[in-house]
Amino acid sequence: MSVTVIEGCAIATVDDRRHEIADGHIVCADGRIGAVGEGSAPTQPDGARRIDGRGKLVTPGLVNCHHHLYQHATRGYAQQATLFEWLVALYPVWAHIDDAIVDAAARAALAALARSGCTTSTDHHYIFPRHAGDLLAVEIEAARAIGLRFHPCRGAMDLGRSTGGLPPDEIVEERDAILAASADAIDRFHDPAPGAMVRIGLAPTSPFSVTRELMAETAELARARGVRLHTHLAETIDEEEFCRERFGMRPLEYLDSVGWLGDDVWLAHCVHLDGGEAQRMGATGTGVAHCPTSNGRLGAGIAPVAALLAAGAPVGLGVDGAASNECGELVDELRAALVLARVSGGPTALTARQALELATRHGARCLGRDDELGHLSVGALADVALWDLGDAAFAGIADPVAALAFGPTRAVDTLLVGGEAVVQDGELRTADPVTLAADLERASARMREAA
Ligand SMILES: [Zn+2]
Repeated sequence: MSVTVIEGCAIATVDDRRHEIADGHIVCADGRIGAVGEGSAPTQPDGARRIDGRGKLVTPGLVNCHHHLYQHATRGYAQQATLFEWLVALYPVWAHIDDAIVDAAARAALAALARSGCTTSTDHHYIFPRHAGDLLAVEIEAARAIGLRFHPCRGAMDLGRSTGGLPPDEIVEERDAILAASADAIDRFHDPAPGAMVRIGLAPTSPFSVTRELMAETAELARARGVRLHTHLAETIDEEEFCRERFGMRPLEYLDSVGWLGDDVWLAHCVHLDGGEAQRMGATGTGVAHCPTSNGRLGAGIAPVAALLAAGAPVGLGVDGAASNECGELVDELRAALVLARVSGGPTALTARQALELATRHGARCLGRDDELGHLSVGALADVALWDLGDAAFAGIADPVAALAFGPTRAVDTLLVGGEAVVQDGELRTADPVTLAADLERASARMREAA
């Protein structure tokens, strides 16, 4: 039996009681949490691995609810653009992705997530050029190699420019081909079992790149197969105007009309919702992937997080693709969520502990994993982040959760996924960062040349 014991640490369990411990222990045994509590750990078998937690904070591993891993190879483009301008500039570049580029970008992006405390990530991949290779298989292998739990979404676009959509016709697919590829992705990769490392979601991309028919038929397929639904929604005013013009309704009304609200759905952004719409999200249990840095980078606006939480909607955090963020470190989004919520709603709009809840148990709920992820409870999966808050950068901050959420940006000290160390003593154990950077540099250069 593989056992890891951490002792002497502060612990924010984010469990049902939100129990916090100033000096305690956590035991991971065979991939799950075996014990968590005050003081020293109960006696463990010989050979248990021991980690000195003094000066450190243990939290659940963070859950990333929205990403486009391939975009790690196209950072720094269209820096002053709105979302639509940015997409129009980048679609022709992305048309040149292939399996080697997706592999390099995904590994670099997943490594950045791991070093920033993320143990479970989703991905929303929606560009599948012909002859580009088996892109979903490539990113799933990348996640296996880096060691993260992974919920990739089979994304799709079927509304090209010639029929009123935003993307060029060259990068959209036929509806029947998309539905066949979606079913194939579920057949090949989806694991519904407890403790799964890979689960598939279905994710037509956005109202302005997808037909109403594809939205409705994808929802039918997902529900017949028991997988979750994801898309972008209400990100910008341009999108709102597009929906009014094409569908005669606001974005959330449109989504409701195609059967897309429910507790098996989570939506990226939800910046432009009115009060009634936030209530509708809560009443239907529809989740939100809040991406504060991306929303800031593109000047999209500030999502009404406090209203969504008050309405009872799960609100997870997402880094979003690194082409609208340039970064991709998940712990940074705690601070960004706090700051952005307070810019619009004042200093009580979101607390440090709420920000940690968004990044953990709310994110797990968005992905349908809150029974076993997003909290440190006995029996939950041993996905654990250990943060070193003992050095000069944090000197004098008595509250470790405030130090993590408000304090200096910090890479994770140790990251366990299913009890296995992905990061240890601040070092990524599953890949060589120098090789990852060199591969990403090459992939990014190929994208620049293609542009
Ligand atoms: Zn996105």
